[in-house]
Amino acid sequence: MSSPSANPLRQVLDSVGETPEWLPYRRWKMYLPGDKIFDVGSGDAASFGRELCRVSGDEAEAEIWERLREANRPLGELIAAIPPIASRADLGAAQTLLPYFGKMDPLAGLAMVMSGISPSAPFSEVLKAGGVPDSSLTGWFFDFLAFALQGLPASGTQAAGVSFMMREFFAPGAVMDYPKGGSGALVDALLRAVEKRGGELRLRTRVEGLVVDETGRCTGVELKNGERLDARLAVLCNADVWNTASKLLPKEWRAKVKGSALDVEGVPLCPSFMHLHLGFRTDGLDLSELGVHHITAKDLSLPVDATDNLVFISIPSAIDDTAAPKGYACLHAYLPATEPYDVWAGMDRRSQEYKRKKEERAMPLWQAVAQVIPDIRERVVIEMVGTPLTHERFLNRHQGTYGPAYRAGQQGYPSPQTPLEGLWCVGEGSFPGIGVPAVAGNAAGVANTIAPVEMHVRLLDRLRQADLLVPDRDWK
Ligand SMILES: Cc1cc2nc3c(=O)[nH]c(=O)nc-3n(C[C@H](O)[C@H](O)[C@H](O)COP(=O)(O)OP(=O)(O)OC[C@H]3O[C@@H](n4cnc5c(N)ncnc54)[C@H](O)[C@@H]3O)c2cc1C
Repeated sequence: MSSPSANPLRQVLDSVGETPEWLPYRRWKMYLPGDKIFDVGSGDAASFGRELCRVSGDEAEAEIWERLREANRPLGELIAAIPPIASRADLGAAQTLLPYFGKMDPLAGLAMVMSGISPSAPFSEVLKAGGVPDSSLTGWFFDFLAFALQGLPASGTQAAGVSFMMREFFAPGAVMDYPKGGSGALVDALLRAVEKRGGELRLRTRVEGLVVDETGRCTGVELKNGERLDARLAVLCNADVWNTASKLLPKEWRAKVKGSALDVEGVPLCPSFMHLHLGFRTDGLDLSELGVHHITAKDLSLPVDATDNLVFISIPSAIDDTAAPKGYACLHAYLPATEPYDVWAGMDRRSQEYKRKKEERAMPLWQAVAQVIPDIRERVVIEMVGTPLTHERFLNRHQGTYGPAYRAGQQGYPSPQTPLEGLWCVGEGSFPGIGVPAVAGNAAGVANTIAPVEMHVRLLDRLRQADLLVPDRDWK
């Protein structure tokens, strides 16, 4: 994010000329069984190979890793050849995308076809093509990475996303970037772009329904306070597809969305989350040494998505001194889309039973945090536990889900276009699915499609001239 890249979100920010301040970092830590710490670093594939050997105690891992990189290369090259901001879903794509097809390496395409890999196939096909044994640490790590990306293991996650991430993460010198001020700073950057162009953000403004005229065109939205907002060009909706289909779409149009992202009947849901938010004293702790991201894994022989197997922990204060007052730090630990909703459904949030259950289900999170900061209990000054019901309520998400669990190879993410003219589903319920960069790419693709093609071409020219467009700048 801190330098021009093929990350769709970076390309959106470049398009609108705004950015938060980025704080780069290079490592995260994984706590594996047997008190092993796996130090995962970006931007250096060879050092990652050495770390795989060290942690597993098996010298063969370096070679397995090399084979995987080779197997991933053709698909990674093909995906990287197209800037996400050039995408659009109409005939105008001939003008915006065609120049890139001409530059694609035909050998990469051939190598991909020969190995039986396709962008929409599960990433496990890439692992297979690289001869990566399931029992290897390399195999486990990329199963975990696929799961971290879109909520399904490698056998259910589209190869395209994981392949792209692998290429980006291990590119020489690549860094990760944290927005100073947290994700709110990123929102502020986008908001500046909206307001500069005369737009407006309304907070605490619930949409009660979509307005659809008798011809089936979505012409606006109706707010909870009764106000109606007319859309000039289209309604881009990123409320989750379940709520959009069952609550926002007028009843008479619900049967008309068959086969689209809003046809949610039978679509499997990723499970929900348990959250632990902490504020704690930092006396005697070296925050910069601690690191921002920590992931604990209980049992590598269990499926990566098994309940309580993985815990993800972020400590933004380790990189951003604005995240908490001086002398304190904040931390977020969560069970990543492995907490079933049904066991919480219908509980009274004020009941003793709910409070007890919250305490009980926060235990795996406390235990994981103690692996990182052993005396965390003594340091804590603020403690907040979130359940699937909290997740559902605060994030407006049907059953607190992470999103749809479309299994690659069986069912692809649907298009953001809906059968109702003027209504687009631009959230994670449509292609390319879950994740901030994916959603940025989805929304940008839809916005480009709605814009006249000449305007889109002008945008691409402007980015090229400013040397911001990847891959064009790499070709020089
Ligand atoms: C704990 C956690 C960690 C994650 N980590 C990562 C990560 O490291 N990297 C990554 O790329 N992705 C991550 N994700 C996934 C990423 O956050 C989501 O995929 C992404 O935010 C989805 O974007 P969206 O626009 O589709 O939906 P959302 O971000 O959920 O936005 C939808 C918005 O619509 C609002 N809304 C809903 N209904 C209404 C209504 N009726 N009226 C008004 N407003 C409404 C909601 O309140 C919400 O603000 C994580 C998700 C979670 C929960």
